[in-house]
Amino acid sequence: MNEQLEIILRRIMHPETGENIVDSGFVERAEQGADGDIAVTLRFAKARDPFAAKIRSQVEAAMAEAFPEAKTMVIVKEAAPKPRRREQPTTTSDIGRIIAIASGKGGVGKSTVTANLAIALRNMGYNVGILDADIYGPSQPKMFGVEDYTPEAEKIDGNEYIVPAQVMGIELMSIGFFIRPTDALMWRGAMAVNALHQLIHQTRWGKLDYLLVDLPPGTGDIHLSIISEVKLSGAVIVSTPQQVAVADVVRGVEMFRHPQVNVPVLGVVENMSWFTPEELPDNRYYIFGRGGAAQYAAQAGIDLIGQIPIIQSIMEGSDNGRPAAGIDPRVEEHYALTAQRVVEKSENEC
Ligand code: ADP
Repeated sequence: MNEQLEIILRRIMHPETGENIVDSGFVERAEQGADGDIAVTLRFAKARDPFAAKIRSQVEAAMAEAFPEAKTMVIVKEAAPKPRRREQPTTTSDIGRIIAIASGKGGVGKSTVTANLAIALRNMGYNVGILDADIYGPSQPKMFGVEDYTPEAEKIDGNEYIVPAQVMGIELMSIGFFIRPTDALMWRGAMAVNALHQLIHQTRWGKLDYLLVDLPPGTGDIHLSIISEVKLSGAVIVSTPQQVAVADVVRGVEMFRHPQVNVPVLGVVENMSWFTPEELPDNRYYIFGRGGAAQYAAQAGIDLIGQIPIIQSIMEGSDNGRPAAGIDPRVEEHYALTAQRVVEKSENEC
C-alpha cells in the first residue's frame, strides 16, 4: 500500500468497528500510478456493509482534496464468502471471451445491439450466451420472447447451478427472470446486486465462445461488480450519433481504460445512424446528426466498429421476441460486419 495514501485513509473511520478503515482491515489496495491516478480497493467484512457507499464517497473526497489533479477510482468488493461448504468453481471461467456491452445513457439501443450482435455471432458459427445485467431495464427476455421463463436450479456434483433459457441457439440469463418490473426501484437495486452475483457464479453455461454482458447504462455498482468478478476480454460502447460525446459515454470509456480495470475498449457501435425509407432505398436521412460517432471515436482513439441504421424490422423484432438480425437480411448484413470486427478486435486483444 502506498504510504502517503495510507496516511490519508487512516483518517477515515468505520462507524461500526470504531477504528479507521486501514486498521479495520478494509483497504485491500491503495496505489498511485505513474500518471498520478489513484486506485483504491475496499473489501468490507460484511457482504452488504451499510456504510460502504458512505466510506467510498469519503475516500473519493479525501483523495480529491489531497490530489486535486488526479483521477480516483474506488472499487468496493464483496466480502470474501465464508467457506461454509466446498468452494464452487465459478461458471464463467471456461467461456472463451466475455464482452461487455455498455452505453452512456438508456434508450440508445444497447439491448437491441446486444441481442442482434449475439445472433450475428451465432450466424458465424460461434456458441453464444447473453448475461442481461441491466437491472433498470432487463429487456433481453422480451427481445427473445422468453419473459415467462423461470430458471430452474440443477445440482451437479453437490453444487447448485442455475439453468439459462435456450432460445434461437443462444443461452440467455437475465436479472429480469428474478426481479419483477413492479418491484420498487430501490429494493430492486439491492436485490439485483445480490442476484447478479449468483448469476455470475452459478449459471450453468454450456461451452460458450462468446458471452455478451448487457450492462445498465452509465457507470455504477453493477459495472464495478462485473469488472471485479468477471474476466472481461473487452467492451463495446453503443451510442446514437448525438449522444456519443456526452459526459456519460466519456466516463464509461474512462472506467474501462482505468489502469486498475484495464479492459480494452473494442469499439463504438453507432446505432440509429440514419434512416432510409423503403420507397427511396438510396437516400439516407441523418436524423440524429451525421458522423458523430466517427468524430468522437477518432478523438478518443477508439475504432468505430459498426453503424446500424434505423430500420423498422429492428424495432418490430425486439417487440415480437425475434431479433431482426435472425430474420431480416438487411439487418443481418449490418450486424455481420459489426460481429466480424468484434471477433477480430477481441482476438487481437487477448
Ligand atoms: P437501451 O438498451 O439502450 O435502453 P433499447 O435497445 O431498449 O435501448 O432500444 C430502445 C428502443 O429503440 C427499442 O424500442 C428498440 O426496438 C428501438 N431501436 C433500437 N435500435 C433501433 C434501430 N436501429 N432501428 C429501429 N429501432 C431501434
